[in-house]
Amino acid sequence: MSHQLTIEPLGQTIEVEEGQTILDAALRAGIYLPHACCHGLCATCKIQVADGEIDHGDASNFALMDYEREEGLCLACCATLESDVVIEAEIEEEPDALNLLVEDYAGVVSRIEELTPTIRGVWIALDRPLVFQAGQYVRLQIPGEASPRAFSIASAPGLAGEIELNVRRVPGGKGTGWVHGQLKAGDRVQLLGPYGRFFLRQSAHDAEGLGYLFLAGGSGLSSPRSMVLDLLAAGCERPITLVNGARSREELYHHDAFVQLAAEHPNFTYVAALSDEPEGSDWAGARGFVHEAAKAHFNNDFRGHKAYLCGPPLMIDACITTLMQGRLFERDIYTEKFISAADAQQVRSPLFRKI
Ligand SMILES: Cc1cc2nc3c(=O)[nH]c(=O)nc-3n(C[C@H](O)[C@H](O)[C@H](O)COP(=O)(O)OP(=O)(O)OC[C@H]3O[C@@H](n4cnc5c(N)ncnc54)[C@H](O)[C@@H]3O)c2cc1C
Repeated sequence: MSHQLTIEPLGQTIEVEEGQTILDAALRAGIYLPHACCHGLCATCKIQVADGEIDHGDASNFALMDYEREEGLCLACCATLESDVVIEAEIEEEPDALNLLVEDYAGVVSRIEELTPTIRGVWIALDRPLVFQAGQYVRLQIPGEASPRAFSIASAPGLAGEIELNVRRVPGGKGTGWVHGQLKAGDRVQLLGPYGRFFLRQSAHDAEGLGYLFLAGGSGLSSPRSMVLDLLAAGCERPITLVNGARSREELYHHDAFVQLAAEHPNFTYVAALSDEPEGSDWAGARGFVHEAAKAHFNNDFRGHKAYLCGPPLMIDACITTLMQGRLFERDIYTEKFISAADAQQVRSPLFRKI
């Protein structure tokens, strides 16, 4: 049995199936509600229930405290409907959002490549093309796991019949352990997408004459790679800079291809920075973390750019601080944090005292 969900302030009413979460129903209807972990842990998708009954599902007690439940708050990624419901959500207007509907997709793994000792490239030939905006991600179904895992699409949108994912193995991680340990060419996989608000704000770049700055760490190269390839394929003439961080030379991947792209496109600059490369190796490029390499490259002045940051939470936080010290405002910084269950679990209520 389905129920009706009215989303204010849009005033839009959608159908929600039994057991379907509010977030899933909204995204499949092309309505973006803010969200991040999709596990009931990070609280990004907290919304107000104005009318009707819901079931809180697996919302963690840290992300949604008892008093918040009593005040009618819920987590959209876990909550299901028990009657017709009205919610109030913060819906931001984004002129560059295509608001593509989230749908189910299936495909065959066409190729697997060890990009580094910890990152696998997985190419999936889809049964039907997936239309997405460069920077967006899919959620891959993992056998035996209820919650699909998020992976950004590393290929350009123009090749939507086949997508490339770059998956870093997380120690103790079930999904990435399966991708690295069992998944092979020829296997069938299922995924959902496209997800996310990490896409190019081209209208603002054009209106304000701003350049593109991408800061990537580890497998966080995936979204910026898709965005850079998309911009270059479209003939973008604005300055594009990619600062790509890895621990060591063996953890640096797609490096030669970016060096080649920079040689072919005068408006594209590529900076690779290694944070843990042994002293005395033959690496002649930048050393240090991504934010340090960016600061040195731009002489601590990032004005005239919008910045797109993608990678682990610590890297993103360090980059935001550096960019703001280098005179970029928060409104010009977009982030995609590669949080896992462990990171999301660390997001505590402000009432949870730090010790
Ligand atoms: C929008 C987005 C895009 C992403 N894109 C990419 C990408 O392109 N490439 C990429 O490599 N990664 C990406 N990630 C990160 C990726 O989704 C995670 O690494 C992945 O979900 C981990 O899944 P797993 O099943 O291997 O690990 P999990 O089994 O979920 O566990 C992860 C870690 O947390 C621990 N853990 C599990 N449950 C808990 C708990 N309840 N409390 C504390 N610790 C726990 C585990 O022991 C393990 O160390 C992205 C993440 C997001 C949010």
